This record gives sequence, C-alpha cells and structure tokens, in this order.
Amino acid sequence: MFERLCIIGVGLIGGSIARAARSHGLAGCIVGYGREQERQNLETAKRLGVIDDFFLDIEPALNGADAVVVAVPVGAVEAVFALLKPYWSNECVYSDVGSTKSNVVAAAERVFGFVPDNLVPAHPIAGAENSGVEASLPDLFLHRRLIITPLPHTEPAALSKIQAFWERMGSFVSVMSAEHHDAILAATSHLPHLLAFALVDMLGRQDEQCEIFKYAAGGFRDFTRIASSDPTMWRDICTANKDQLIPLLHQLKSELDKIEQLLADNDGRRLFETFSYARNARQRFLDQLEN
Ligand code: NAP
Repeated sequence: MFERLCIIGVGLIGGSIARAARSHGLAGCIVGYGREQERQNLETAKRLGVIDDFFLDIEPALNGADAVVVAVPVGAVEAVFALLKPYWSNECVYSDVGSTKSNVVAAAERVFGFVPDNLVPAHPIAGAENSGVEASLPDLFLHRRLIITPLPHTEPAALSKIQAFWERMGSFVSVMSAEHHDAILAATSHLPHLLAFALVDMLGRQDEQCEIFKYAAGGFRDFTRIASSDPTMWRDICTANKDQLIPLLHQLKSELDKIEQLLADNDGRRLFETFSYARNARQRFLDQLEN
C-alpha cells in the first residue's frame, strides 16, 4: 500500500501502527524518527523488528516516504509540523493519532497558515496505560474504532488512503468533525482519566498518613487503572481539550453535590434511583460494545 512509511514517535501507538502495518503487508519499509533522548527506544524498536531503521534527523527520515504518521503527545504536534514543513511533499499522505483533534488542526493552521489538504487527522480509539515501543502490539487496533476528522478541503484521495490503511489494520472507521470528536471524547475518555488522576492524587496524599492503600481491593484497582497512564500525554490532552472538559466538570460537580445532599438527607430512595439509573446506563454501554 505504501512504499515507505515514516512514524514520528515510535511509542505505544506509533509502534503498534508499525507492527500492524507490517503484519498486514501495508508498507514495504517502515522507518521511525525520534529525538536524541529517544535513541534507546528507537534502538529497541529496530532490534524488535518493529521498524526497519530510525533517524534522529528529520530530512533522511522523510526521504522517499509516501506516508507519514505523527504519533507524539498532542502538545508536541505543532513542533513536529514545524519540522515537517520544509520537506512537505504533495506525493505523500500525512496523518496523526492524537487523542484531541481541534488542537491538531489549529497547530497545522499556525505552522502552515492553513491545513494542508494531504493531512488527514485521525484518532484510534484503542490504547493502553503503558507507553513506549515495548508495550506496542500488532493487534491493538483490531476490531476497534478509528475516527477520521477531515476538513472540507481534505483531498479525497488522501482521505481514502488513510481510511483504507486503518481498515486493513482491522479498525472500524468513522468520519466526523474535529469539534464533534472532541466533545464525545471529552465525556467518555478525557473526563474519566481526569477523575481517576484526581481521585488517586487526593487519596495518595491521605495514604501517606493513613496507609489506606494497604486495604484497597479490586474495585479501587479497576477504577484507578487509567491513573497509571502517561502524565505528559494526559496533561497535553486535558489542556488541549479544556473547552470541552470544563463544562463537563461543572456538570459532574453538580452531580456530586446532588449525591452529597441525598446522603445528608438520608434519602436512600433517591440514592438507589441514581445508582440504578447508572447501572442500567452502563449495561446499555456494555451491550453496545458487544454488538
Ligand atoms: P508514547 O508511548 O509515550 O509515545 C510517544 C512517542 O513520541 C515517544 O516515543 C516520545 O519520545 C515521542 N515524542 C514525544 N515528543 C516528541 C517530539 N517533540 N518529537 C518527536 N518525538 C516525540 O505515547 P502513545 O501512547 O504512543 O501516544 C502517542 C499519541 O497517541 C498521543 O498523541 C496520544 O494522544 C495518542 N493516543 C494514545 C492512546 C493511548 O491509549 N496511549 C490512544 C489513542 C491515541 P520520548 O519517550 O523520548 O518522549
């Protein structure tokens, strides 16, 4: 499909794309680009056969590439676009995997003055709380959703190529606007991560005095799993999508205030109704996931 695929940022997602592209025969040659401090990770990626080669300079990394995927934290996307700009090629298709999309579009506008029509923003709804190439998996995207957020002027041929690329890696592709993507993901991904981090931050400080974690069990472990995610990545996501997140935080605070009042009033009936509604809503979500 591609002769030479260049992955910028060979971490969990970049490495998984490389592995999946290789196992589905989607690229003749796969190279990685990273900064000097990433050398060891890139050497590991090469040793594991995830990439064929790596570069610490951008020009040779891009040489002959007909597909470039940017897989760095969303706060670093603008700096990467600036690196790509002098070598931008109409013969190549560009995409990214950032968890927020409006900020990727805005970053392109700042760097190029417009969003190039061969740049196709995308986001795989698949991942893990681990980072780095050693955590990457060839089937991470299999039967998972992938959202593409094109602009009205995105080149149809570039869009089709990126769509086909992800479909051939086993993803179910949806297309929507960047704004809609960010609103949806704020509710179902960014807010839960923020909550997990906030809860563990609060309890971690108490634990230092009261050893509460010693007695924590499976429920706490399940609820807080995502607080093991990479802090840089999540700082970038939360700040990039704060306009969607802040109103949701207001709603959540009202919900918590409501529950606090129910407790203060000993209103077991309404507390039961709230929990029952939540349990049924979660079951609807699980049924949807299964289908
Ligand atoms: P990761 O494992 O930490 O990989 C990110 C890679 O980018 C690392 O190799 C990092 O190198 C490199 N990098 C950071 N800043 C860079 C820069 N300025 N120039 C070049 N390389 C740079 O993170 P990840 O989980 O793969 O996430 C990558 C992207 O995928 C993020 O935008 C994230 O929002 C998105 N995403 C993540 C998930 C998930 O569940 N993890 C799911 C969907 C989408 P260093 O280690 O040296 O910093």
